[in-house]
Amino acid sequence: MTDISTSLPIVWRETADPQDYEQARVGRVFNHRRPDRHPIAIVEAETEDHVVQAVKLAKKLNCRVSIRSGGHSWAVWSVRDDAVLIDLGKMACVTIDEERLVATVSPSTTGKKLDEHLSEKGLMFCGGHCPDVGLGGFLLQGGMGWNCRNWGWACEQIVALDVVTADAQVIRVDETQNSDLLWAAKGAGPGFPAIVTRFHLSLRRRVPAMLSSSYVYPIAKYREVMAWITATMPYDAATEIVAVAASPAHLGQLCIIALFVTFGDTEEECEVALADANCSRPSGFLEETTNAKTSLAKEYRDQASANPTGHRYCADNGYVKNDADVVSVLEPGFTTLPTTKAFALWYAMAPCSRRELPDMALSMQSDHYFALYTIWEDEKDDQFCQQWVRNVMEEVAPHCEGAYLGDSDFQVRQTRFWTDEKARSLRAIRRSRDPEGRLCGYLDRGDQSGVRGLLNQDQWCDNA
Ligand SMILES: Cc1cc2nc3c(=O)[nH]c(=O)nc-3n(C[C@H](O)[C@H](O)[C@H](O)COP(=O)(O)OP(=O)(O)OC[C@H]3O[C@@H](n4cnc5c(N)ncnc54)[C@H](O)[C@@H]3O)c2cc1C
Repeated sequence: MTDISTSLPIVWRETADPQDYEQARVGRVFNHRRPDRHPIAIVEAETEDHVVQAVKLAKKLNCRVSIRSGGHSWAVWSVRDDAVLIDLGKMACVTIDEERLVATVSPSTTGKKLDEHLSEKGLMFCGGHCPDVGLGGFLLQGGMGWNCRNWGWACEQIVALDVVTADAQVIRVDETQNSDLLWAAKGAGPGFPAIVTRFHLSLRRRVPAMLSSSYVYPIAKYREVMAWITATMPYDAATEIVAVAASPAHLGQLCIIALFVTFGDTEEECEVALADANCSRPSGFLEETTNAKTSLAKEYRDQASANPTGHRYCADNGYVKNDADVVSVLEPGFTTLPTTKAFALWYAMAPCSRRELPDMALSMQSDHYFALYTIWEDEKDDQFCQQWVRNVMEEVAPHCEGAYLGDSDFQVRQTRFWTDEKARSLRAIRRSRDPEGRLCGYLDRGDQSGVRGLLNQDQWCDNA
């Protein structure tokens, strides 16, 4: 053991200074509702070879491997009892091939960091909405990135991967070699059966203009606003359409906010795209912003302030069925938020949700994405906030097709994350690529799912 580990940047649970261990265990974890789980060691990998050696070490110790890229999974999937945690935070790589329109990035690269590289070259990638989410976790679970409803899932832009397998081999993954892993990388999420060290991503030309309109209403207008925005949904091919329940500090009340962000070649084009929403919005708003100039940098700032660091979080979500009474189904979640920092979100997914997806693990979607993000500061509110999320989701879940991995916690609730057929194929790939369950995979209640993975069925996990 020691001959491998002496060459590694490693922090051992048993011998490290407790503060150093704690820093390595959760210092890069976004959610301050820290898990009571303790890896045997944390390898702060700087190179691909460190990853290889860490997997060999885990094998020698007969323990599992967990992985951290950006540290933003809500349920802190990277921190697992008695595992060797490979933290990729110090592996930094962004290279851009402008001719081929391909970026090569290390998995801990954030959406914002990649955008800084791309913006100066007039290029763009449909990364996540929040600046500091790691591309690793984001892409593997599908990636609801900018203008997802029109540009599709971010994982569709993965052209190749470099990975370290569960038996410590370095391999290239693309359409022509190890293509089963390419298929799985597009939607397996934290059950991906290898460790990605580099993503090769297809880029798009940067759209030069971005405008946004937003309308803020008192929550008493919920039904009217929600009925309007869900009906407005199919109107344009370059606009993100979102409804958010939140409590803007300067207004001091719970509001329903309709948000439209349009990407276009010119501002005039964006104005045309926003005209329908601007003209048809319900009256009675508290504030409005029409055709305001915006940018990814500004949108990242807004998202960062909506998701403050140093807080405790609990999230859940569902793809509400296309024929559901969306306004009524989402009403309790939107109108009873438990804290002033919490927010609920409806995100329009059509027309992406109506097209046939390419063949990949990601296969669950509907026109209506609904998510709850409960945010608080004090540990004493843990039970109250988590129970509120559960109560709302118990009402919403029967109206859903399934859920998105990225905003889920399988220790609390499992549901359908893939179609049955894709779930079966994914299970087979995981069994063949990691038969011993070296990689931790999905964190269910008691962390027992192992090679079996998720059931892909509705289940509240405390009754399991
Ligand atoms: C503030 C905030 C905003 C968000 N916004 C969005 C959004 O706009 N769109 C969206 O789709 N999602 C969003 N999410 C969800 C987010 O994408 C997921 O939580 C994702 O898992 C975070 O990735 P990460 O690398 O930062 O997390 P980590 O916790 O580091 O990784 C999560 C898990 O993914 C797996 N994994 C990560 N990297 C690798 C790798 N290199 N190789 C193999 N497996 C790996 C591991 O199982 C790991 O434990 C948001 C989350 C937060 C906290």
